[in-house]
Amino acid sequence: MGTHSFDIDGFDIDGWRQHANCKGIATDLFYLQPGCSAYDIRAAKAVCSNCTVAKQCLDYAVENFETIGIWGGTNEIERRSMRRNNKIINILEINHNQ
Ligand code: SF4
Repeated sequence: MGTHSFDIDGFDIDGWRQHANCKGIATDLFYLQPGCSAYDIRAAKAVCSNCTVAKQCLDYAVENFETIGIWGGTNEIERRSMRRNNKIINILEINHNQ
C-alpha cells in the first residue's frame, strides 16, 4: 500500500494493510489532485478491484471520515453516500426496534 496514513494509532490493528494490493505503488495514484482525469481514478480503482482487503480498507475510510483519496475502491463522494445510507439504516433500525 502507498502511504495511507500508516502512522495513525489504530489504523492497522489487524495487519490487513500487509495484504494490500497498493502496497509499494506510488501514493499519488490514490490521492488524486483536483481536476484529475477520469482515467486516473479508474487506474486507482483498478488496483483496488481485486484487493483482498478492500472491505477492511473501505470500512476504515468510512468510519474515520477519510475525505481524500481512493480507499476500498471508492472516492469521497461515494463514501459520503455510504455514510448517509448507513445513517438512514441505523435510524430505521432504531425506529423499528422501538
Ligand atoms: S482497497 Fe485499494 S486502497 Fe485499499 S488497501 Fe486495497 S488496493 Fe489499497
